[in-house]
Amino acid sequence: MEGPRVLLLPAVLLPPRSLDVLGPVVEEFTLNTPWGEVGPFARRQPPDGPGVYILPYSGYPTRVDPRSTMWAAKSLGVRRVLIWERLVGLDETLALGDIVVPDDYIDWTRRLPTTLFEDRGVGYLSQVPPFCPETHAILRRELEGTGRPLHGGIYLGVDGPRRETPAEARMYLRWGAHVLGMNVIPEVVFAKELELCYGLLGTVSELGAQRPPVTPRGEVRETLRRVLERLPTIVRALSGTPTCTCGQTQALTKAKGLLPEDWRQWRPAAS
Ligand SMILES: [Zn+2]
Repeated sequence: MEGPRVLLLPAVLLPPRSLDVLGPVVEEFTLNTPWGEVGPFARRQPPDGPGVYILPYSGYPTRVDPRSTMWAAKSLGVRRVLIWERLVGLDETLALGDIVVPDDYIDWTRRLPTTLFEDRGVGYLSQVPPFCPETHAILRRELEGTGRPLHGGIYLGVDGPRRETPAEARMYLRWGAHVLGMNVIPEVVFAKELELCYGLLGTVSELGAQRPPVTPRGEVRETLRRVLERLPTIVRALSGTPTCTCGQTQALTKAKGLLPEDWRQWRPAAS
């Protein structure tokens, strides 16, 4: 039987057992990559739909090497990676519990790797569109009518794990950023390098440091619950065969002979 085509990275604080909506765990395993071991992955398989691989994050920036996460995704044979990330709402129009499927990103990370192809001269890839357009169209369609505001906007990625200062938050806003997060970059870049679709489902869990503090009233928990209700449908839609061009990002590089056809030979094998 063919394996799941979707890898879900939950970087939100979910109640225990809430991912049971995606079916029971039928397999757990770790994977070796050229940058170390990744896992444990769980494979969930509902009786009446496509399965999904899950690699949970703690909800804060993972210290797993982001190169290994995307390499593992490729090794699993998935076509699409979906991260569900808790975000900081910088822009005033964003409230706790709002849903964000961003249009673009700014990379403000400074201490993370920037390419899988150090010293190879093949990481010169267009970032247009910044995220997989088909994945984001599916997310926007399936997240309509949850009763929670659904926004686009610009995602700004930082190293973390510390939060931003008020001065930094004001600077990011002047750059045009709407939300801030710590996991998507550089994963989204490596996904492109490996010809994978990558999408972001964001939930605003905190407000920017420049904004007056608010007392949470369960908005975030309620949004997580509503997104969880939609998650099986989202996974099912994402499991279809992609019609986007994310799977051809390296076509030119391969045609020039700079990368072999078989992606497994793009890096030395894991030891
Ligand atoms: Zn795509």
